[in-house]
Amino acid sequence: MALHEYECPACGGAMEFNPGSQKLKCPFCDSEFDVKDYVANHNSESSGETAENHVTGQESADDGTPMYIYSCGSCGGEILATESLGSMKCPFCSNNVVVHEKFNGAFKPDYIIPFAKTKEDAMQAYSGYVKSKKLLPKVFFEQNHIDEIKGVYVPFWLYSATQNYVGNFEATKVRTWSDSNYNYTETSYFDVERAGSESFKQVPVDGSKEMPDDLMESIEPFDLSKMVPFNMGYLAGFLANKYNVTAQEDRNRAVQRMTATTTVNARNTVIGYSSVRNISENCTTTDESTRYAMYPVYILNTTWKGNNYLFAMNGQTGKFVGNLPFSKGQAAKYFFPIAGVAAAVIFAVLMFVV
Ligand SMILES: [Zn+2]
Ligand SMILES: [Zn+2]
Repeated sequence: MALHEYECPACGGAMEFNPGSQKLKCPFCDSEFDVKDYVANHNSESSGETAENHVTGQESADDGTPMYIYSCGSCGGEILATESLGSMKCPFCSNNVVVHEKFNGAFKPDYIIPFAKTKEDAMQAYSGYVKSKKLLPKVFFEQNHIDEIKGVYVPFWLYSATQNYVGNFEATKVRTWSDSNYNYTETSYFDVERAGSESFKQVPVDGSKEMPDDLMESIEPFDLSKMVPFNMGYLAGFLANKYNVTAQEDRNRAVQRMTATTTVNARNTVIGYSSVRNISENCTTTDESTRYAMYPVYILNTTWKGNNYLFAMNGQTGKFVGNLPFSKGQAAKYFFPIAGVAAAVIFAVLMFVV
């Protein structure tokens, strides 16, 4: 395998993609280069042997994922990575390394949305978020924990397709009136049919086993107008995974999202009736096409009392989501004074009434 490294032509430092200037930047001498004009100037061969055949011991990650070992072209240090990780930092010399084979051939993305938010933006968003949640255990506020936020390019499949909908409904209109002797109710029945097509462009579904799909969907939308043709230079300085869920495996999720939208839109046109009963509905998918893209996401992963908590920020728009635990000890401190106040108010009102 070939490792691409982005050495600064001026000082030899390890350059990385800068979200502020949208250029490759050397953090040592501030030189900047356009990503598309710049070809990785230092390619080293590293076989990327599986850790099983290696003497260092660690053969797989905690969850059993096989690990690979690359040797850094800059310092010779050994970089241990999962099979799908293709962009990383050398832990010894901070060199930014991109494994060519992980983003080439069948794995070559069509597009990439470059990071527009910096790591500092992500740290600020996280701090603001945890400060707004008063019941958190202290570990979530610690600076060394906040420093662990990582910028990751997540592989996404983008599905375009047309959904063709046909639906039949039985609807009623009810009219009531009265005269001096009787109350009248007239029920009219209607056969209602709706048929139509809706076209979808580039509906994203994450192609990485490691990322929870619902978390990725909750940081949508991404602005596709800023999507550019893929270039490995954008990966420098960030983590990036190649896909390990195929387009075919992800297809159902994409089709489900499109079908659900079309169905709701069609149902919403059946209006003006007293009641609507669904007789039959069918949606077929045509004109399908798939593209492969890398999306920018900041991630913070925390384990607390045996549970896993994940925070994510859209690296383009800054939209932030997280799942947070409540600490029972802190909840008690927070709720008891409120309970006390409420009880006092009720007591005062009762006194007044008596
Ligand atoms: Zn430099
Ligand atoms: Zn190194």
